[in-house]
Amino acid sequence: MNRYRMHINGESVEAQGGAWFPVYDPSTEEIIAEVPDADEHDVNRAVQAARAAFDSGPWPQTTAQERGRILLRLAERIRKELAALAELESRNSGKPIVEAEYDMADVATCFEYYGGLATKVMGHVNPVPDNALSLSLREPVGVAGQIIPWNYPLLMAAWKLAPAVAAGCTCVLKPAEQTPLTALEMARWLADMGLPPGVVNIITGFGETAGAPLVRHPEVNKIAFTGSAAVGKLILKSAAESIKRVTLELGGKSPNIFFADADFEAAIDGALFGVFINQGEVCSAGSRILVERSIYSHFVEAMTEKAKRIKLGTPLQRETKMGPLVSKEQYERVRSYQELGKQEARLVAGGGRPAGMDKGYYVEPTIFCDVDNSARIAQEEIFGPVAAVIPFQNEAEAIRIANDTPYGLAAAVWSRDIFKAFRVVKALRAGIVWVNHMQPTYVEAPWGGYKQSGFGRELGPWGIEEYLETKQVHINLNEQPIGWY
Ligand code: ADP
Ligand code: MG
Repeated sequence: MNRYRMHINGESVEAQGGAWFPVYDPSTEEIIAEVPDADEHDVNRAVQAARAAFDSGPWPQTTAQERGRILLRLAERIRKELAALAELESRNSGKPIVEAEYDMADVATCFEYYGGLATKVMGHVNPVPDNALSLSLREPVGVAGQIIPWNYPLLMAAWKLAPAVAAGCTCVLKPAEQTPLTALEMARWLADMGLPPGVVNIITGFGETAGAPLVRHPEVNKIAFTGSAAVGKLILKSAAESIKRVTLELGGKSPNIFFADADFEAAIDGALFGVFINQGEVCSAGSRILVERSIYSHFVEAMTEKAKRIKLGTPLQRETKMGPLVSKEQYERVRSYQELGKQEARLVAGGGRPAGMDKGYYVEPTIFCDVDNSARIAQEEIFGPVAAVIPFQNEAEAIRIANDTPYGLAAAVWSRDIFKAFRVVKALRAGIVWVNHMQPTYVEAPWGGYKQSGFGRELGPWGIEEYLETKQVHINLNEQPIGWY
């Protein structure tokens, strides 16, 4: 059996208790590797290593230039290994190989971006009315606990690690239990890139046994989490105990809004891409498709027609546009929403398991139309290829339906009328709004949600802010005593 070890204090280690758990290829349902099943002892060991690396040793002395260069070297290494990493990612997560290749390129770009940004973190001189120099210094927040999901495994690791390292933090990263392999693969190169031991630690384990102790740990200063809203709530509560800083990205039920004046072909494509890319396992998936009444039936028909032609297949085939879902658990979850949808709305595409594919966690791209926005398939995040199409009468109704959700991660608006499109952009309560597109994501632009999609922003300069403290320093330039007493 192919065993991957964790990465703690620069060493490749097993769990102290000696337990392992299996990692699957979701297209074959077969075990492809085993990883250590970390518990609280392992978490403590990793946090101790991160704490020690933050408090003493070479890391606190490194310059921003040096930290930046480490990240740039890592980016270069990732580009060199791109094909192998993409294959491992595709195999472990089920995502189509072509998408995995895009992800790996984005991983490298993310490390590059923060490699460059490391030297652009600036302090400030505060204009105080005294003979004094008042400074705001930016300092790393300390030890960061980072917990990530399984849909973009290495990319989510990069979004967390890159800004943290650039800022001078140290990290304990826990990948999702379903998809730990690419992060562990990358861990092997960290020392060669010049990263001192203990700066980046990667532990593998389950949420309750490895994630929760990391969140609880009093020596961890900040938790960055991407995952479900249910777990986000637990994390926020647990972090209260030691007043940790928290950033949360908790997914959504994002509206993709189509006005009658949108380019029709582009709209159909955008509706499908918005909800079915990466098997619909996307936190910003445009899973509620709002369509203006006057084009509604034509739109549903065209979308259905095209959805039926989406090429499902094994992830490593280059023609594949949709692979299996990541796990048995996720498969069962999505299947149950497909069944629920049949009671709540009208099924027009998919709705089950694809015929002739007996192995693997495949589900058909599924479209429900005439969905009422209060239906569970319109309110609950499914995290799979299930679209709820909802008609609307006019702009006001589109906005009302779009915002009628506890979430607020993303949204998209399609129209040729820039005035209307921008009125809608302003009315939407969401952290990311696309116009005439859905999903493009750039490391230069902020990512994060409103409402129950969480708080904090990743990427761009916003991403590094979340790993920085501000220290006010006052330097008195008066040589006389204060003279008060
Ligand atoms: P899903 O249910 O789709 O797997 P989760 O939110 O459960 O989404 O998982 C996202 C990440 O959160 C994973 O790394 C998982 O191990 C972790 N996690 C799950 N439960 C907890 C918890 N109670 N405390 C900390 N982390 C958790
Ligand atoms: Mg879970």
